Amino acid sequence: MRALTAVEDDVMETTVDGSAALGARASPGAATLLGDSLLAAAADGCATLDRDGCIVAVNDALCQMTGYSRAELIGRGAASLCADRQDRRDIVRLARQLRRRGHAHGEVWARRRDGGAVGAWLSLSALPAGGQASFLALLTDVTALRLRREHERYLARVDTSTGLPNRAQLHAHIAHAVARAMRTGDALAVYVVAIDALRKVRGDWGHEAGERLLWALAARLGSVLAPRAILARSGDDAFAVLLRGGNAAMWADCAEALRRCCVEAGTAAELGVDVRLVAAVGYAVYPGDAADADALLACAEQAVGEARAAGGNAWRRFDVERARSMQRLGERLDEVREAIAAGDFVVHYQPQVHMPSGRLCGAEALVRWRHRERGLVRPDAFLDLIEGNSLIAAFTSWLLDAVLGQIAQWRAQGLDIPVNLNVAPYHLRHPEFVPLLRAALARHPSVPAGMLVLDVTERSIAEDAAAAARNVAACRAIGVSVALDDFGHGDASLSALRALQADVVKIDQRVVRGMLDDAADADAVRGIVGLSRALRKGVIAEGVETPELARALLRAGCEYAQGYAIAQPMPPQQLAAWTRAWRPDADWRSAVQH
Ligand code: C2E
Ligand code: CA
Repeated sequence: MRALTAVEDDVMETTVDGSAALGARASPGAATLLGDSLLAAAADGCATLDRDGCIVAVNDALCQMTGYSRAELIGRGAASLCADRQDRRDIVRLARQLRRRGHAHGEVWARRRDGGAVGAWLSLSALPAGGQASFLALLTDVTALRLRREHERYLARVDTSTGLPNRAQLHAHIAHAVARAMRTGDALAVYVVAIDALRKVRGDWGHEAGERLLWALAARLGSVLAPRAILARSGDDAFAVLLRGGNAAMWADCAEALRRCCVEAGTAAELGVDVRLVAAVGYAVYPGDAADADALLACAEQAVGEARAAGGNAWRRFDVERARSMQRLGERLDEVREAIAAGDFVVHYQPQVHMPSGRLCGAEALVRWRHRERGLVRPDAFLDLIEGNSLIAAFTSWLLDAVLGQIAQWRAQGLDIPVNLNVAPYHLRHPEFVPLLRAALARHPSVPAGMLVLDVTERSIAEDAAAAARNVAACRAIGVSVALDDFGHGDASLSALRALQADVVKIDQRVVRGMLDDAADADAVRGIVGLSRALRKGVIAEGVETPELARALLRAGCEYAQGYAIAQPMPPQQLAAWTRAWRPDADWRSAVQH
C-alpha cells in the first residue's frame, strides 16, 4: 500500500513540475525509465547516470539506503559515492566492463551520509541512446551478508583470544615471505615459542586466567619484536614469529630475547596466578633449513621439541643434519616393518650338542634378514635399530611364532628340540614382554613352555634390574627356561646370575676362544663350570670353532657346546638330516674330565 502511495506521490510530483518520475526534476530525459512505477516502488536502490557518470535521477530506496536526499544526489558523480573501504580498482573494472559489454555487476561499498557504508550488489546497464540518461544503476543492499562474510573471513585469519594472526594466516604470511625472499635472495626465520605452563594455568586457575595470560604474553612478545616482525598464535600454547631478513647472530639473539621475555615476564604474578613460566623456543631459517611455509613451520616445531627435551627453558635452531639422520632412521624402520610383514625375516638354527655322546640337546634360534639387495643380513646389522622402539613388539611376536611353529613341526616329525631364543635386553624389562610370550604360547598349544629357553644377557639388568628380574621370574613361572648368555665376559655376570636366577649359563665365546692361548680364560672357563655345578645350573660353551677348543672344554668339564666346529647356524629344514649324519670326533669322549 505504501509503495502504491509513493508511486502516486511521485506521479503527482511529475505531473506538477512536469519532470521525470521519482522527482528527477533536473532530468526529464529519464522519465521514460524512472517513471516506471515498478522501479519507483522497488526496494532496491535505483539511479540513472549520464554518460559522464553523474546522477540524473534516483528512487526513494536509494535515498533511504544512503541517507542522502534526492537533491544531494542528483548531479553528483556516482564515483564520489564510493565508501572509503571500497577498492577503487574494482570500480575501474566495472566501468570498463560496462563500456565493453553494455552491462556490468559486482559488489561495492557505497558511502552513507552519516559516514557509514552500505554493502551493495550493483548492476549497471547501458540505456538506449537518445535519452538524457545513459546508464541505469540498481543497488541491492547486502550489507548484513557482507559483514557476516567479512567476520567469517576475519575469524578464519585471526585468533580471537589474542587478536593475533592465527595459524592459517601465519602460514599465508610465511608463504608470501618465502615467495618474496625467492625473488630478492633474502633470508627469513620462523620461530615457535611454546609455553607449557599455559595448560597448567588453565587447569589450576581456570580458562579465564589462561586467556588473560595469553593476552599478556602476546603483548609482551610483541614489545620485544622488531616492528616488521609478525607475531602470531600458532597453537594452543604456542606463539610464532616471522622475521624477515637478518643473519645467524641476529636470529639467535631473537630466540634468546623471546625466551627471556616469557621467562622474565612476571606476567603470571601480575595476573595473580602463581606459575613459573618457562618458554621453549625453536626456529628454522629459509633458505638454509627449509624451502616452503609448511616445512619451515614443521622444522621450527621440531626445534621446539628439542628445546623442550633439553629441559624446556631453552632455544634451539633446527638441526638439518639431525633431521636428515632421523629421516633416514625412519626410512630404515619402515623397511624393517615392511620386511616383517612381507616375511623377509627367517630363523636359522644352530645345533647345541652333548659333545661326548654327539646327542643333539637343543638349538639356538638366530634371526636373518633375507634382504632383497643385500642378501642374507646378520642380526647385528639391524637389531640395534629395532631394539628400544615399538617395532620390537612386532618383531618378538613374529619371532616367537616362527620358533614355536618350528618346534611344533619338529615334534610332529618325532624330534624334540628345545630352542634358545635371544631376547633384547630392553624388551625383557618391558611390561609387554610377558603378555606377549603368554599369547604366543597360547597360539601354539601343542608346544610345552619348557621347550623354550630365553637367552638373556647381563645388559638386561643394566637399567632396571628389578623389572628384568620380575619378568624373568614370570617367564619361569610359566615353565619357560632362562639361559644367561655371554657369561664371563662382562663385569656384571654374577650379579645378573643372582638377579635373574637363570637355569643355564652360556660361556661367552670370547672367553672360550681365548682358553687355548690365555691361561686366565682357561681358568675362567673352569671357574664358570665349577660355579654352575655348585649352583646346579646347566652350562654350555658358545663359539666352539675348532676340535681343539672342544677338547679343551671337555677337559675343563664343559660337555655341552655350540659352534662352527659342530655346525654353522642352518635353515630349519636341514636340521633333521644334520642330526642323523653328525658324529663327534672320536677323541672327544676320551677327553672328558672324570
Ligand atoms: P649370540 O646370542 O651370542 O649368538 C651367537 C652368535 O655367534 C651368532 O651370531 C652365531 O652365528 C655366532 N656363532 C656361533 N658359533 C660360532 C663360532 O663358532 N664362531 C663364531 N665366530 N661365531 C659363532 P649371529 O647369528 O650373527 O647373532 C649375533 C647376535 O645377535 C646374537 O649373539 C644375539 O645376541 C643376537 N641375535 C641373533 N638372533 C637374535 C634374535 O632372534 N633376537 C634377538 N633379540 N637377538 C638375536
Ligand atoms: Ca644367544
